[in-house]
Amino acid sequence: MRIALAGNQNSGKTTLFNLLTGSNQKIGNWPGVTIDRKSGIIKGTDFELIDLPGIYSLSPYSPEEEISRKFLLEEKPDLIINIADSTSIERSLYLTTQLLELDTRVVLVLNMCDVLRKKGINIDVERLKEELQIDILQISALRGTGIDELIEYLKKQTIKENPRLKIFPENVEKTIAEIEKKNNLPDGRFIAVKLLERDRLFKDLLNKEIEEKINALEKMCGTDMEEAIANFRYEWIEGVVKRSVTSQVIKVTFSDKLDRIFLNKYLGIPIFVVIMTLVYLLSVGVVGGTTVEWIENGTERLQEAVASGLHNLGASEWSVSLMTDGVITGVGAVLNFVPQLLILFICISVLETTGYMSRIAFLLDKIFRRFGLSGKALIPFIVGSGCTVPGIMATRTVEDSREREMLITLTPFIPCSARLPIISLIAGFFFDKYMGLVTASFYFLAIAVIILSAIILKKTIYKDVNSSYVCELPEFRLPDARYVARDVWEKTWGFIKRAGTVIFLCSVVIWVLLSFSWRFEYGIPVEKSILASIGNLFSWIFYPMLGELSWGATVSAIQGLVAKEQVVSSMAVIAGFSGEVSGNLLFSGEGIFGFFTPASAYAFMAFNIFSAPCFGAISAMHKEFGSIKKTLQAVFFQTGLAWVLATFIHLIGLAIGGIF
Ligand code: GDP
Ligand code: MG
Repeated sequence: MRIALAGNQNSGKTTLFNLLTGSNQKIGNWPGVTIDRKSGIIKGTDFELIDLPGIYSLSPYSPEEEISRKFLLEEKPDLIINIADSTSIERSLYLTTQLLELDTRVVLVLNMCDVLRKKGINIDVERLKEELQIDILQISALRGTGIDELIEYLKKQTIKENPRLKIFPENVEKTIAEIEKKNNLPDGRFIAVKLLERDRLFKDLLNKEIEEKINALEKMCGTDMEEAIANFRYEWIEGVVKRSVTSQVIKVTFSDKLDRIFLNKYLGIPIFVVIMTLVYLLSVGVVGGTTVEWIENGTERLQEAVASGLHNLGASEWSVSLMTDGVITGVGAVLNFVPQLLILFICISVLETTGYMSRIAFLLDKIFRRFGLSGKALIPFIVGSGCTVPGIMATRTVEDSREREMLITLTPFIPCSARLPIISLIAGFFFDKYMGLVTASFYFLAIAVIILSAIILKKTIYKDVNSSYVCELPEFRLPDARYVARDVWEKTWGFIKRAGTVIFLCSVVIWVLLSFSWRFEYGIPVEKSILASIGNLFSWIFYPMLGELSWGATVSAIQGLVAKEQVVSSMAVIAGFSGEVSGNLLFSGEGIFGFFTPASAYAFMAFNIFSAPCFGAISAMHKEFGSIKKTLQAVFFQTGLAWVLATFIHLIGLAIGGIF
């Protein structure tokens, strides 16, 4: 298939041409003139694309117009991509209406959609499609958005015949139809109009009968037909534009000025990295660092008080242990993290409501696009940083079903708030002062994991994904306090509620499994407990990432399936059972988790963060996939990847440790 690229000067033809053809270009001169003739093969297809000289009409006023017209009429490409600068659509459509008179099919591509908002222009594309009765695609050649969609569209080859628009008044249309019928030539309507205009290229076709018709029409219009035709066109276009395009005068707002910084090509992403790091430094580092100790002290005092209270009431030894070593330790280990989560939720929510996150979506769009995702993926990711379940539901904003399925698999990789305690607890001991940085590192690691997974998925399961793209941006706003308050409350309360229900129950179960042997003896050494024997059964799975057969770490990681914060809770209960260690001392030398090194600790965190999410999230995945097979496929993918990654991290850690 041969495709001609036609459009006004500076509409972005060359930019689009280079994008579509990549390096498969040939540049020469048009026969007889020294105007560039560029042609190339569109990437991933065998379609030849020819970049025509920039033109405003198909009248033979300039050598460029002459060449373009000759090419279109004589060499007859199979398709015309009419590229239009969407910020000056009126001028562009003048050419479009002429191209539509040819027999060669036309698809209209509106370029520069990235600057529409800045210029205060809003195009109702659906309306425009109705008016012009052709397919319209929106792109930004500069940013590379919409290009994959364009190629996919071309590949489908579902382009309709050109419509016969009624652009001219009734009697002119009638004359055009008559001439067209009589001549019965290819591009008949185009030639008929040109005959009315007394175009010199077609003077051989002029005859007396047509002359008479032109004279009659000219008498009626009061001008010569060439001018009249141009006027009719402009009038018609004006009507179309009035109905489908609205624009307002835009001053350079404060928001625009901010965008110059936040959307800067080079600074945008680094600024984002700095902002997110600061957010985690503040919440996990500063706030978390202090409050965890306070709450731990409080928990200990509560344990003592409850223990002595129960003893005084004559409670049995085991019921005191259930309350203190089971419930208070388990639930307390999770509630520890409420203050830092609160701060984190506030920061994220503020960034969201000011419109900053939309900008990041816009910035990441170009990067994500290479991996079959789009900037829109950021929405589920941000929601997922609170809780994976609504994050998975937020994938519904993505139109393409294949991209959406990829996102359902990828969203659980974003560390949800329940996974934050795992990082906080472990990083707090092993990385101490750098805890905030290590925490932030997991979010960036998550992005790397997502990109890596997207590449794998795009190469295997989702080969023909069509990502949708972000074209418009909201204004920057002051944060909406009501929105922030509600959002933060919902997330925080959700977290606390889980501590009171799921974690409470799990703590009781863990206590039972730790306190009793299979023969149901109480007061046995912890290594003889039911839980230890279960852990021993599976501990080999975790050996490569831990360098140790640890039933405690094994059963804790498995409990992440119930709720991710349960990993922390379980470790706290187990450590408490096997010695007088808790909180920051959890990993000290004599304790059951004393074998952890910084390398295996980081590896263990990575496994817990990136392996299958909790059952709640898995069932949300199932609901959105609507297929058990796809759900299992995703869960195995996540867990497998996490295992490989964790093992890899541990090995690298060992290698680095070996060097120093
Ligand atoms: P041509 O004359 O039709 O070949 O247009 P060019 O491809 O040379 O583009 C003209 C100018 O518009 C160049 O400065 C491009 O960088 C710019 N341009 C092209 N496409 C876009 C776009 O989508 N958005 C913006 N903002 N600028 C664009
Ligand atoms: Mg050019």
